[in-house]
Amino acid sequence: METEAGRTRILLRGLPVSAGYAIGKVRFVHRKPQSDVVQTIPEERVPYEISLFEKAHARSLREVELLRSQMSETISAQDASIFRTHIQILQDPKIAEDVPKLILEEHLTAASAVYKVTHELSLFFEKIASGDKARDIDDIADRLMGNLSEETQALNAPVLDEECVIVAHNVTPSLLAGADTSKILALATDTGGATSHVAILARSLRIPAVVGLNRVSLVARDGDTIVLDGVEGDVVVNPTEDEVELYRQRRRRWIERQSDIVARSKTSRPETLDGKYVPMLANVELPEETANALELGAEGVGLLRSEFLFFRGAIPSEEEQFQAYRLALESAYPNPVTIRTVDTGGDKLVKGLSLSDEPNPVMGWRSIRVCLDEPAMFRTQLRALLRASVYGRLKVMFPMICGYDELTRAKAMLEEVRAELERERIPVAESVEVGMMVEVPSAVMQIKSLVGEVDFLSIGTNDLIQFTLAVDRSNEKVKDLYRAHHPGVLRLVNMVCDAAHDEGITVSVCGEMASDMLSMVLLVGLGVDELSLIPARIAGNKAFLRSLTYSEMRECALECLKMKTADEIDALLLSRYAERAAEFGAPAAPRKAPAAGADGAKRER
Ligand code: PEP
Ligand code: MG
Repeated sequence: METEAGRTRILLRGLPVSAGYAIGKVRFVHRKPQSDVVQTIPEERVPYEISLFEKAHARSLREVELLRSQMSETISAQDASIFRTHIQILQDPKIAEDVPKLILEEHLTAASAVYKVTHELSLFFEKIASGDKARDIDDIADRLMGNLSEETQALNAPVLDEECVIVAHNVTPSLLAGADTSKILALATDTGGATSHVAILARSLRIPAVVGLNRVSLVARDGDTIVLDGVEGDVVVNPTEDEVELYRQRRRRWIERQSDIVARSKTSRPETLDGKYVPMLANVELPEETANALELGAEGVGLLRSEFLFFRGAIPSEEEQFQAYRLALESAYPNPVTIRTVDTGGDKLVKGLSLSDEPNPVMGWRSIRVCLDEPAMFRTQLRALLRASVYGRLKVMFPMICGYDELTRAKAMLEEVRAELERERIPVAESVEVGMMVEVPSAVMQIKSLVGEVDFLSIGTNDLIQFTLAVDRSNEKVKDLYRAHHPGVLRLVNMVCDAAHDEGITVSVCGEMASDMLSMVLLVGLGVDELSLIPARIAGNKAFLRSLTYSEMRECALECLKMKTADEIDALLLSRYAERAAEFGAPAAPRKAPAAGADGAKRER
């Protein structure tokens, strides 16, 4: 169907991960490098694509050099010669010069030019020599393609001079962190899951988002009009005028409804009808968000994802980190701020720190593992944290702890840094609570030996679900298997609560489950003491909590603990609570993936 302006109308359906509505112009930031589709570009984009190639080329050379020096100690000189060959191929004018030439002369994207050159070379060597050389070329082509995609994301956060809807194959948190987010009306991507970090970031920035659209990056063009429905997951490229008007109305009603909920419950206490107080704190990515989170009713920050400071460019210095942590602590005072030490890896790559070619990054060199292996970087962060501790109520939290050894090593480093600061006569707060995230099943299995080492626990359900069910949280192909209410997950939460309470310490949940109303019934019922939520969800969840009794939540959670499937548990929760939750802004329809945390509204159509 064609619109009034003669453009083809295309309706796509994806996974709504951040609620709200948007109508705007497409701003295209990243297309999947399609190896076998030759894509052309307008002339003005030629310099950009050439610089993209140059950066990816330089990065590939650096990586192969690094591999060669690392491997030379462990493999024979003959085997290490493969890396010399790769370096030679990369430096060969056929690649280093012909690719930019093709971009310039034929107006190809960098990815298409790389494909064309390497494909021809590989065919040539296939014919005249052994397959080895052709395979080397293919290897180099893959590396260049991968780095092209990295460069597009990490090094080229788009400069946005007007409001737009970002359309991309995939968006990384670093891209969002580097862009002027006030100009982003919405996000639409081909890939992504409900608890991928970009979905979390979109929710916390209150940017409507739909992911898993499969081909939006291929069908939408820069400047197309697009409407996005972050409640239902519909996206229309080149909508009709009637559709634009319809979505305008929905957007207006949505905004009115949201401000109404915030105004009504902002100052009220998060307490059940029978008097159970469940503090609600905020998850923030950047210290600057703290003040706004308190405005929305948060009683402090339950999770500051400090790695987002590392996405702004180079690894931040001690002074830069100190200023950032101080800002968060002062903005929240007298409320506490839990700052999680840097948690990189998976979909959170930090330039100069993360490896870009791990076969399985989510289970690779990430999080606390990186910190323990890079003591200089970690100590800088710990120094900045302890120096900032005198400006508020700091709680330090270590992520992705898999066992006792990692926890005690991280704690020992914190103590060493404290002693060092004391020697330098730099003031440090006397009591800084130290806690750990529970997000790996092995930590739950030995939770009894961990609780004695910490002042508090915070369950990271996003990762705990991912690792327990072996379901990648960012992969839309398996999104239906990512079940927050899986009986196995609930049992783990229950075990953590029991062990913490036996030791007399509190348990918080800072994963997306805390922001989902139906999940909240289970968490509080299982004994979770405190919740850390997306700021935009605090008002709605608080209002919902105030309509419940703790005794009914407990009873419901215990009933669910006896069930055998996530479907049964969902059915029970939906039958008892869906209607009431919808009154406070939760999605009304049954969902397969209740951890989505998409702060959907009651359907108002
Ligand atoms: C979690 O895993 O639940 C969590 C809060 O950490 P992140 O989402 O940053 O991995
Ligand atoms: Mg996590």
